[in-house]
Amino acid sequence: MRRQSARESAARTYARALPIVPVRARGLTIEGADGRRYLDCLSGAGTLALGHNHPVVLEAIRKVLDSGAPLHVLDLATPVKDAFITELFRTLPPGLADRARVQFCGPAGTDAVEAALTLVRAATGRTGVLAFTGAYHGMTAGSLEASGGAFDVRVARLPYPQDYRCPFGVGGDRGAELAARWTESVLDDPKSGVRRPAGMILEPVQGEGGVIPAPDTWMRRMRQITADRSIPLIADEVQTGVGRTGAFWAVEHSGITPDVMVLSKAIGGSLPLAVVVYRDDLDVWEPGAHAGTFRGNQLAMAAGTATLAHVRENRLAERAATLGAHLLGRLRHLAEDFPCMGDVRGRGLMIGVELVDPEAEEGEYEEAPEREAPQRGSEVAVGAGPGAPDAAPARGPHPAAPGLAVAVQRECLRRGLIVELGGRHASVVRLLPPLTITDEQAAAVLDRLADAIRAAARGHAHRAHQGDEDQPTRQPRQAPEPPGRAGRPR
Ligand code: PMP
Repeated sequence: MRRQSARESAARTYARALPIVPVRARGLTIEGADGRRYLDCLSGAGTLALGHNHPVVLEAIRKVLDSGAPLHVLDLATPVKDAFITELFRTLPPGLADRARVQFCGPAGTDAVEAALTLVRAATGRTGVLAFTGAYHGMTAGSLEASGGAFDVRVARLPYPQDYRCPFGVGGDRGAELAARWTESVLDDPKSGVRRPAGMILEPVQGEGGVIPAPDTWMRRMRQITADRSIPLIADEVQTGVGRTGAFWAVEHSGITPDVMVLSKAIGGSLPLAVVVYRDDLDVWEPGAHAGTFRGNQLAMAAGTATLAHVRENRLAERAATLGAHLLGRLRHLAEDFPCMGDVRGRGLMIGVELVDPEAEEGEYEEAPEREAPQRGSEVAVGAGPGAPDAAPARGPHPAAPGLAVAVQRECLRRGLIVELGGRHASVVRLLPPLTITDEQAAAVLDRLADAIRAAARGHAHRAHQGDEDQPTRQPRQAPEPPGRAGRPR
């Protein structure tokens, strides 16, 4: 670790928060060089649908190695690739499955995002893109432009609906409806300053943006708005795919069929693989219009086929839905005792706890005239935010507490639990366990997390109290530094 900090770049991320040297791993568990074992709820930033080194994945990789098949084949046809495409296509949403084309990209999620943007630009002859506040699509130029931290004239930014920190101050269905109307008006107002775009890109659940599930109604509205105006809709399912949110693909919750899907992470069964899948009429590309040397990773395709098939055959998406709902319930229950747990939300096994400073002043919201209760009790989780029926209605959320989130992550690690941090203010503790996690393991994760939050909150309160003694007059709060480009890339 000393050599790492001396030799690797200052842009290191996970290595800073997680001082572990992993040497062995299986399922949910990672073992460090020091012999310590950890429950890994980071799962390679949501990559490991089946956890570490699942037997079906290892077997698939060994089979390719033992067969003497070439490992590097550019984009040539191989039996391994053929099997992967067959398995992938059988999982696709209806409407896309029977008319799909797939482009193998460079190996990362961001490569597939770039490919998708290039594709819709070629297909429409237009250049602009619609993207959303809080989005994360990757770190290459086009993906960065589309992500929430960027400023670019080619990307028009639209509000992503969120309950807890609703930009309109109302949350729930009403907030989502206002967000949709804003999108419509930007597109239809000839003086909005936004040209007709080449495409709209969205995440069905924002991951890095802080685990924010888009309401199904809003997803359907986005589908309708884009379809009515011949704007291709790109669903970025890099993080939400392969059962993670409780459906094989997260777009299935709303029943929409996007024109383009961007897939990576879990589809490679822990090895690098990325594809863009789209409807055949968009396939206007000339040969070589989108290329790359590393598009033919045979080991990743074999590992991916095994993963996709295992998730499908064992109905792991349904398992994620049930277990996820249970975990959300338990965490909400816990939040009743911990005012610093400002919001608990998620979908399936993509779960976030937003940490706040309950002592700091609350923002005042105007009371919404006709507040509709969001879907509580459904899989789309809404927390004790302004839109939740049992929340104090005219109150905004407390300020985010990124320092407390870091302390919780550290306390988790001390208790042998690896969690991720994310969100606009890096104040959301994220859980992305493998879909294979058992009930007992899930209970252990909750116990350790609860204990860590208790310890971190106590330490935080203690420091705040000491701070008060040092400074009898409270200083005005500074808004926490948002994680910008150089913040926390994934
Ligand atoms: N899109 C989404 C929704 C993501 O979550 C990520 C990575 N966290 C990316 C794109 C970029 O993927 P990669 O890091 O593999 O380039």
